[in-house]
Amino acid sequence: MLRTSSYTIYVDLPDNSEEVLLIHGYTGAYDKVSSRVAAYVRSLEPRSRPGSPDMDQNLELPAKQETIPPPGETIAVLKRRGYLTEKTEQEEETLVCKMAAALHSVAMRIPSYVFLLTYNCNLRCPYCYQDHLRADTASGLLRANMQPELINRIFVAISKLEANLSVSDAQQNRPAPRQIKFYGGEPLLARNRPAVEYIINKALALGETELSAATNGTQLHAYRDLLGPGKLSSLLITLDGPPREHDKRRVHADGSGSFERIAQNVTMALERGVQVNLRTNVDRSNIGNLPELAGEMVARGWYRYDEFLAYAAPVSVGNAKTNTEMTMNSWELDKALAEMRQQYPEMLVIKRSVDSLRSQLRQIFERGADPRPLFKSSFCRAHSNRFIFDPYGDLYACWERTGDSKIRIGCIDENGEVSLNPEANRVWRSRTVISNPTCRRCRYAFYCGGGCAAQAHNHHNTYFASFCDGFTSRFRAGAAEAYLDFTTSTETALSSVPGCEMR
Ligand code: SF4
Ligand code: SF4
Repeated sequence: MLRTSSYTIYVDLPDNSEEVLLIHGYTGAYDKVSSRVAAYVRSLEPRSRPGSPDMDQNLELPAKQETIPPPGETIAVLKRRGYLTEKTEQEEETLVCKMAAALHSVAMRIPSYVFLLTYNCNLRCPYCYQDHLRADTASGLLRANMQPELINRIFVAISKLEANLSVSDAQQNRPAPRQIKFYGGEPLLARNRPAVEYIINKALALGETELSAATNGTQLHAYRDLLGPGKLSSLLITLDGPPREHDKRRVHADGSGSFERIAQNVTMALERGVQVNLRTNVDRSNIGNLPELAGEMVARGWYRYDEFLAYAAPVSVGNAKTNTEMTMNSWELDKALAEMRQQYPEMLVIKRSVDSLRSQLRQIFERGADPRPLFKSSFCRAHSNRFIFDPYGDLYACWERTGDSKIRIGCIDENGEVSLNPEANRVWRSRTVISNPTCRRCRYAFYCGGGCAAQAHNHHNTYFASFCDGFTSRFRAGAAEAYLDFTTSTETALSSVPGCEMR
């Protein structure tokens, strides 16, 4: 019997009651249809599906929509594109599970490596998820810095891991070189420079490697000559507002601020051709300062660099001190940013989370690009093959859960042999869109990946819960905006902002 696919997504277009965008969750089809056709497809939806986040779907028929069956040839197209199907709900779910398993097995063969050089940090940010380590003086976790002897063992371990994964075969079809990231604590403290340089040299000797770091940027000037294409080429740096706001949040141990030093280092890194991803952690108490921060980015000329990307991310429930009443989810933040752009055009320099999806979908609309590369089986690489090495030789999958030996996925012995913890590996590496019924029945599953496991644990006390974070609304907003960009070419460019030149 013909029914509406459980994975049909409806995107209502703003100021357009005549047309609707249909997107299919596993065929990758995108089609604009008349609202009458969409109403017909919607009318065949079951009222609800157990375990599906349908409360957040726009499944209700808009008022006064007729549900007249369209002509046979339209129905044939809807069927061919996947929106209508003769498969049962269970058959579709089984198909989604098979597709996810295939995607996951590809992801599992491409490892990435993180060197957590130290748990120590020179800043004292209030929302730090590693804050508890500072109180836990008994563990001594903050004392260690990664030493050359361990670095040697880690490179032995990398060779063994890659041999086990047959990475050499996978790499032949691999679009990107090996990825190594520095992480902490604060990895790029000046005193860590010998270790960083040693790792960079060893990595480059091993083959083509993309080197990046998540750094607070306060001592980046000590790494000047190691920065640039072919060396440390990508940095994630945080500024939490204009100077007066940032300097209240990202403070040194003595209480002094860090804005100006970081800002100078951002400029230095950009001048050296480094990709700088500038993150602002936003909650309800600092969101109002974003226009001023955007003004700083314009005034300092950062927006002129192709290698510069600024974005806002919600402060997550990181530690016991986080004021949950002040936090917002990604969709609330996105809507707030969109509104601010209306009033402050310079806010275009700070990307919303939907902007990346919007530009990817625009490629699909404009060039008929293959939508399947957007599909993913899990939310992040903690669930496939990311290996985080800490200064004790312990191995982790998720950066927010480092330092907790109960959930380490393994460790490296004195010969560089990796011994994996089967239970922790099961938890981290098996969490995909099929590992919980809510996600595997979700029409957005392959676009979302199931949400952040650490946040799922923070909110639901299990890593296997879904964590939607407003994804369904963000997806529809991004798709609608991409379609409007495509049809009207009205995307506002930063070049139209007063004070910003053409780029
Ligand atoms: S599980 Fe969440 S916090 Fe951990 S690495 Fe993935 S996205 Fe980041
Ligand atoms: S976490 Fe993502 S895939 Fe899972 S139910 Fe929510 S939106 Fe769907």
